[in-house]
Amino acid sequence: MIIVLKKNADEKKVEELKESFLEKGLKLHISQGMNTLLIGLIGDTTELDEEQIGAMEVVESVKRIREPYKKANKSMHPQDTIVDVCGRKIGSGNFQVIAGPCSVETKEQMIEVAQDVQASGAGLLRGGAFKPRTSPYSFQGLGKNGLELLLEAKKATGLPIVTEIMSPSHLELFEEVDVIQIGTRNMQNFELLKEVGTVNKPVLLKRGMANTLDELLMSAEYIMAGGNENVILCERGIRTFETSMRNTLDISAIPMLKSKTHLPVIIDPSHAAGIRFMVEPLTMAAIAAGADGVMIEVHNNPEKALCDGKQSLTPEMFDDVMKKVKKTTEFFGKVM
Ligand code: PEP
Ligand code: MN
Repeated sequence: MIIVLKKNADEKKVEELKESFLEKGLKLHISQGMNTLLIGLIGDTTELDEEQIGAMEVVESVKRIREPYKKANKSMHPQDTIVDVCGRKIGSGNFQVIAGPCSVETKEQMIEVAQDVQASGAGLLRGGAFKPRTSPYSFQGLGKNGLELLLEAKKATGLPIVTEIMSPSHLELFEEVDVIQIGTRNMQNFELLKEVGTVNKPVLLKRGMANTLDELLMSAEYIMAGGNENVILCERGIRTFETSMRNTLDISAIPMLKSKTHLPVIIDPSHAAGIRFMVEPLTMAAIAAGADGVMIEVHNNPEKALCDGKQSLTPEMFDDVMKKVKKTTEFFGKVM
């Protein structure tokens, strides 16, 4: 339930009202707009009498939220959220490019790619240390050592790092990671979601390859319910009947998510297509549809990549794409 307070509502009465909700065991989500103050009530509000609350002196209006996601709901937080990663802003008109290899392989690879993508204008560096591979016989990532190499690349360039977590028991290793990624295969790993909900750092939550947008928002809600409201949503392609591409990028997800939530929405064109040549057109489409950022795989030697070489851009190709990204974001009035 959302309660919109009157513009010059008596502060003492507002405090009394808040207290009465807290006494009922409800949690409050306060949102200060330009001219109005909203109180979002989280918890079981079935016993509350809408009309009675609406008739109170300090109350302008009352609205019930039908959707099961509350903290992620746009009506709870009408202004778009800006997630700030070490000063790099994502959301509400701020656009970021996250780039780097699929997997962390060597120190030289990480530093070289980090320097290259930074020179081209990427704002954040990606690289998987713990890899969710379909086959147990495929390269599983460097684990803890991979995280150390990412930190070295961060030290060399100053780029904040984004990397995937696969197990709640690994959380302590992620202390110096700037953005924790939850991959498509773990979108509904509720124990993992609860765990990253307790930390004070942004989470990049990828949409499950066969999950609906409301399910994605409910997963975001798990993280937010734990107190961590810095969630970035990522559409990375879904399973359809089409087999020409690895996945089908659901461009419609961008405007639809933006109508449902205040959280930033980014696109991963690399995993969506699985093919290098499609990364640029999908990136352009994502910007035009209103995305707040993109995450692109870049490798200094894609032919030798231990994972996802087919979809990885060379630094030169990435530089080319970035030139177009800059022009296109400018055209759509985004700040990079
Ligand atoms: C990744 O970004 O490294 C990754 C494994 O992506 P996804 O979870 O979307 O498959
Ligand atoms: Mn990959």
